[in-house]
Amino acid sequence: MNSNIKVFKFGGASIKDAPAIKNVGQIVQKYSEEKLAIVVSAMGKTTNALEAILQAYASKTGDAFELLNQVKQQHYEVCKELFGEAHEIYDLLNDTFVEIEWILEEEMQDEYDYLYDQMISVGELASTKIVAAYFNHIGLPTHWTDARDLILTDNTYRSANVQWTETQENCNRLIKPLFEQEGFVLTQGFIASTSENFTTTLGREGSDYTAAILSYCLDAEYMAIWKDVPGVLTADPRLFENVTKIDRLSYREAIEMTYYGAKVIHPKTIKPLQNKSIPLFVKSFIEPNGSGTQITANLDENYPPMVAVEKNQALIHISTLDFSFVAEPHLKFIFEQATKQRLRINMMQNTAISFSICVNDVDDRVANFVQQLQENYAVNIDKDLELITVRYANKTILNQLRTDKMLLLENKIRNTVQMVVKNVPILERIDA
Ligand code: ASP
Ligand code: MG
Repeated sequence: MNSNIKVFKFGGASIKDAPAIKNVGQIVQKYSEEKLAIVVSAMGKTTNALEAILQAYASKTGDAFELLNQVKQQHYEVCKELFGEAHEIYDLLNDTFVEIEWILEEEMQDEYDYLYDQMISVGELASTKIVAAYFNHIGLPTHWTDARDLILTDNTYRSANVQWTETQENCNRLIKPLFEQEGFVLTQGFIASTSENFTTTLGREGSDYTAAILSYCLDAEYMAIWKDVPGVLTADPRLFENVTKIDRLSYREAIEMTYYGAKVIHPKTIKPLQNKSIPLFVKSFIEPNGSGTQITANLDENYPPMVAVEKNQALIHISTLDFSFVAEPHLKFIFEQATKQRLRINMMQNTAISFSICVNDVDDRVANFVQQLQENYAVNIDKDLELITVRYANKTILNQLRTDKMLLLENKIRNTVQMVVKNVPILERIDA
């Protein structure tokens, strides 16, 4: 039984400045008679800016405070446009940003990932204070709620794992009563808390996932993600021409595409919704009346070819030094090392004497992994590659995708073609 609660998620782009926030106000105004839980990310590129502050602090460049002042200034400018000079929001924001100042004033002692979550979470705390204040200001009663009181996680900082039982209890206890009253419930995406009250985050772009967690715990009627695109498209419009909107998509399709790099929805978002058959709409905040994309249970539909591109891939070729077969004991060792280094394996292939894996090239994980293997194996790495995943491919689209690219590895399973490619520079192409 659903609860009639709808969960909306507004990302950074939808609240990037004062006009954008006003636009969001117009969108939610239409739902003022309904039970709406609203999840909001940090404004615009704030998360990147906060990451830069942490970098500056950690590497002692000396400009951390200056960078922080820029971020604060951006927030104050937006508030000036929304509320004028005199409003309690300025004190609220000062109290929020001071958390970062306290960190910057001290020598760095804590672990980077822990500090990351304590600092970066301020982006969502600040944005939600502004948006909630604005909704109240235009006569839409809104309860600002701290997501850290709702979503409980373990202490895997920067990609915390949700503890569902406690999270469910918190939602029952704290949100459901708010819906007995008038008004919206508004909270932060991306951030959560450990049982010891330390702030955690769910991974970059994790606000979609927050909305899905709340949808699950509240038995939402549906969830909607409001984006700057008309819906889920057949490919990323920043990378391809002639993309079209997909009107309906199954949970399964959405999981496959987002797992392999379709950036439109955070990959962890779908599963909680699927488990309770909660429909997900992807809609445009620019054209809010457009139909968007509806994601629901399995559909017998013919899909057009859909393309997802994951950049920053490394292809690692592993063979034994003594030319013995790369048999199961070797594979076991290789996977253990991959797990230890938290490598995300996107594709793999083996022959008798070699084994190749394509992984996300994050931080220094690949280097650490290779170091573990080098004693016993010959290891070669190709970097700066792309993994292209095509569902429901046809010849035309595959030929198009292969143009100007060097194909290093290809896999075909049922509806899916995956290719690891290198973009060939123009000069090389002319010579060939
Ligand atoms: N603000 C966070 C980020 O930019 C979370 C989100 O936007 O979903 O990654
Ligand atoms: Mg964002």
